[in-house]
Amino acid sequence: MSDFETYDCDNCDGEFAAHPSARAAETSYCSPRCESVGTGLV
Ligand SMILES: [Zn+2]
Repeated sequence: MSDFETYDCDNCDGEFAAHPSARAAETSYCSPRCESVGTGLV
C-alpha cells in the first residue's frame, strides 16, 4: 500500500515522491540540499 504523493520541488522543479505526513511534503523540497539552497542557507 502506497500513500506517497508526488510533489514539485520549489528549488529545482524536480518531481519527488513523499508521504503527505513527511517533512518533505511540508517544505516542498526534494532533498536537504535543495532545501538549503531554496531557503537561502547556502
Ligand atoms: Zn530539488
